[in-house]
Amino acid sequence: MRVYLDHHATTPVDPEVLAAMLPYFTEKFGNPASKTHLWGWEADEAVERARGQVADLIGARPRDIVWTSGATESDNLAIQGVVEFYAERGDHIVTAATEHKAVVDCCKALERAGRARVTWVPVDGNGLVDPQEVRAAITDRTVLVTIMHANNEIGTVQPIAEIGAVARERDVLFHTDAAQSAGVLPIDVEAMKVDLLSLSAHKVYGPKGCGALYVRGRQPRARLRPILYGGGHERGMRSGTLNVPGIVGMGAACELVARRRDGDVVRLSALRDRLREGLLGRISDVKLNGHPTERHPGNLNVSVRFIEGESLLLALEDIAVSSGSACTTASLEPSHVLKGIGLPDGLAQGSVRFGVGRSNTEAEIDYVIERVASEVARLRGLSPEFRMRASV
Ligand SMILES: *Cc1c(COP(=O)(O)O)cnc(C)c1O
Repeated sequence: MRVYLDHHATTPVDPEVLAAMLPYFTEKFGNPASKTHLWGWEADEAVERARGQVADLIGARPRDIVWTSGATESDNLAIQGVVEFYAERGDHIVTAATEHKAVVDCCKALERAGRARVTWVPVDGNGLVDPQEVRAAITDRTVLVTIMHANNEIGTVQPIAEIGAVARERDVLFHTDAAQSAGVLPIDVEAMKVDLLSLSAHKVYGPKGCGALYVRGRQPRARLRPILYGGGHERGMRSGTLNVPGIVGMGAACELVARRRDGDVVRLSALRDRLREGLLGRISDVKLNGHPTERHPGNLNVSVRFIEGESLLLALEDIAVSSGSACTTASLEPSHVLKGIGLPDGLAQGSVRFGVGRSNTEAEIDYVIERVASEVARLRGLSPEFRMRASV
């Protein structure tokens, strides 16, 4: 048996999505920027239909959707674009240490280049940002608040509407990275007072290499300086010939989310809870990471004491999961998110992220519980620290 439980890393393309995309590689190959013939019109129509499908999922106007290559580009375009456009007004960004690397490293690069100053608001032990901390961090020089919706490692869901209200009250633009949440949580850019929002197709059963940035067009209008210059596509905000099959796929994937979300959430959270209870029942000294209730319905992140997450992952080669540490050089550097919630290095190194998705079954979850429990027992048997503790 092989089980894929890494749906935060990527999801498979839904067959319905693939079917919608296929004609746009071959028969319908036109360039939507070709305004003078049928081939171009046909591609343009498909792109505009997809723009509507993506906009509908987040309560936006279709004209406020900008196509990108994925959430990494969307995050960079939002942050660099706002900082550069509003350079006269200010240079200050408010964000959190537990953001995705696309946000963290973009902010750090702007800081290094002397283009921005960054305030990293603290998160609590569950990874939650306090909107009052955001309010306290905003100054007269603040041009952007960027706080993600659902965290990709620990699943914690931020109080986006409250943070949006705080930013709006101070006339500061608010960006949120919704790559993980878009498939499972309702999003309404009006109610949440979001001005910029990043999406990625491959996190919601669409193709890789395609994403979108919502850029509020009015009340208030968010302005960006582009990162890419060229033909002036996407109202000058993102030049480059559009990835038509990818965009069609992203539109179809978003429409599918709208139809499936309620059912998916019930199934995913039941499977995730079964996994959590199974692991807690079979393994001692396990800590749950992330918020107990305000979390992504498919996310489970646990720290298993007395083992290294990387060793467990290597032992579970038939099960796709992720660990909280990235193998950098020779040392196991704990993830910035687990560090951000104050997890001690020992626990951060023993962390494993499970991401349940649409195709998973109860039988798969039961198999994973069994395999993880037996590998943890085997690895702990090899751990002097664990044996010493067991003997006292
Ligand atoms: C996956 C992910 C990204 C990066 O998206 P790509 O489309 O792969 O560039 C950014 N932010 C979050 C929260 C993610 O989960």
